[in-house]
Amino acid sequence: MTPSPKQTLSLWDGLVALVIVALAVGIFFWQTAAAGTGDLEAVIAINGQTVETIALSSLHDPTQRTYTSLGYTLELELSSTAVTMTHADCPDQDCVHTGTITQAGQSIVCLPARLSVRLLGTGASAPEIDVVIG
Ligand SMILES: [Zn+2]
Repeated sequence: MTPSPKQTLSLWDGLVALVIVALAVGIFFWQTAAAGTGDLEAVIAINGQTVETIALSSLHDPTQRTYTSLGYTLELELSSTAVTMTHADCPDQDCVHTGTITQAGQSIVCLPARLSVRLLGTGASAPEIDVVIG
């Protein structure tokens, strides 16, 4: 006996719909937790060592920070909602091309200078991302 294609299809559809709903709900809560109720915090690390932690909510006006590492100079602009690597004299410019980060869990990494900027959500549990430094 062959199962009716219609029944097979509807069972499959139901499973797929369940998975999609579960994923959507999961992503929604994950984003809510990450983007979150808490304030964003920028953690600047050089060579794996945190050199500065800046609570973005404390910034009323965009502020510039300059960091030097391994002979490179990196300029960071921080506002209450975003962090941008505005200028760097590293050879690959990957950090500058990363652009602006606005969400907890995002990061800007400059491998030549061994500098990383991570956004963390305070208050909400942000997904932990290991520092990636080559
Ligand atoms: Zn760079």
